[in-house]
Amino acid sequence: MNTYQGRCACGAVTYGFDEEPRFVANCHCTDCKRASGGEMATFALVSGSDFTVTGETRSFHYPANTETCAGNGLDRVFCVTCGSRVYTDNLADFPGGVFVQEGSLDRLDQWFAPQAEIYTWSREPWTPALPVPQYDHGVPAAASA
Ligand SMILES: [Zn+2]
Ligand SMILES: [Zn+2]
Repeated sequence: MNTYQGRCACGAVTYGFDEEPRFVANCHCTDCKRASGGEMATFALVSGSDFTVTGETRSFHYPANTETCAGNGLDRVFCVTCGSRVYTDNLADFPGGVFVQEGSLDRLDQWFAPQAEIYTWSREPWTPALPVPQYDHGVPAAASA
């Protein structure tokens, strides 16, 4: 049993990891809006080597885009049965990393607080900024360290 566990809406896809995420952000980009259906997505960066998945998933590739967190390209991964977006992998800018969608975590008290807000150029004006560093484009260098 992993320290942190999550799943899709139907439960066919489950995942787990043990390490503390090394970067957590609210992303206001237009890809995250469209993929999540909300104003933003909150994700936590963990190592792929510490991340295990069970169940059938499918990936949708987002090509390079400097206006969104796709960066140099990535795959958003979802459950084939219920369509819940669970995580993102094959990140050209974060080799070996996985962005876990925090909304899929099992325990509400295990959400990690965002350390930054990114792609704020496309933040809706009715969404107030959190008291953390704001990046209109790009991802802070610390995230890839
Ligand atoms: Zn599902
Ligand atoms: Zn994004």
